[in-house]
Amino acid sequence: MPKGNHGRVSRPRGQNIKYIEVPGGGFLCPHLACRTRRVYPGTENVRQHLLNVHRIDPPVKLSNLGKKFIILYRWNSTIRGAEQMPATVATLLALKLTADGHEPWIDRHDLAVDSDLKDVIRDRLQQSKVAVICIGPGDLERCSQPDDFFRWEINNARQLEHEGRLKVVIVAHGTNDWKDFICGTSMVKQRREKALRETGEWGSDILKYLTDHYVIQYEVNKLDTISAQIIKSLP
Ligand SMILES: [Zn+2]
Repeated sequence: MPKGNHGRVSRPRGQNIKYIEVPGGGFLCPHLACRTRRVYPGTENVRQHLLNVHRIDPPVKLSNLGKKFIILYRWNSTIRGAEQMPATVATLLALKLTADGHEPWIDRHDLAVDSDLKDVIRDRLQQSKVAVICIGPGDLERCSQPDDFFRWEINNARQLEHEGRLKVVIVAHGTNDWKDFICGTSMVKQRREKALRETGEWGSDILKYLTDHYVIQYEVNKLDTISAQIIKSLP
């Protein structure tokens, strides 16, 4: 008899268990026969409960049930008068996906970029099935800086997509000329050329990627269709 099949702890049974995150914080026991309905502050508490009460030893790192989508966007637009536009589009998409029965994860915190935040996003990306990247005019201009956070997020999502571990859905808003993502709304030729020059290879690569990639055009009165398209992209 293989080891582990006769002890008080059965690891294989626990491997498919996923933690159930409660809106507002905390976790519920995912065991179907559990009657406690207690909300635990952290996944480690649920793990201990599973071990002690249900005799199940789940793996330490488990995904959260329901968080299949992560929404990435530029926190603040540099376009005058449209500063809140990227966050508005991203928030509306999150609300619509929530209304349609999903629990998208959206980063709303305008925090300083530090390693903690990168850890959170990296973790969330790895747990997600679909990364929804919202891009509008000028949102990629600051990607000329290699340490730009949105650039880092896009690179990470694309890398996971490349590895076949997640799908990327692009939602474009405010333009159907992808160069505007880098150049903004300026019509001045020199300014546009300068922006394209400054994003360099990264810029031409992302423009090529967007041309080859499936892109959903955002329209506020088509949220139903857009949400359905995003949900349909689930593997
Ligand atoms: Zn339980």
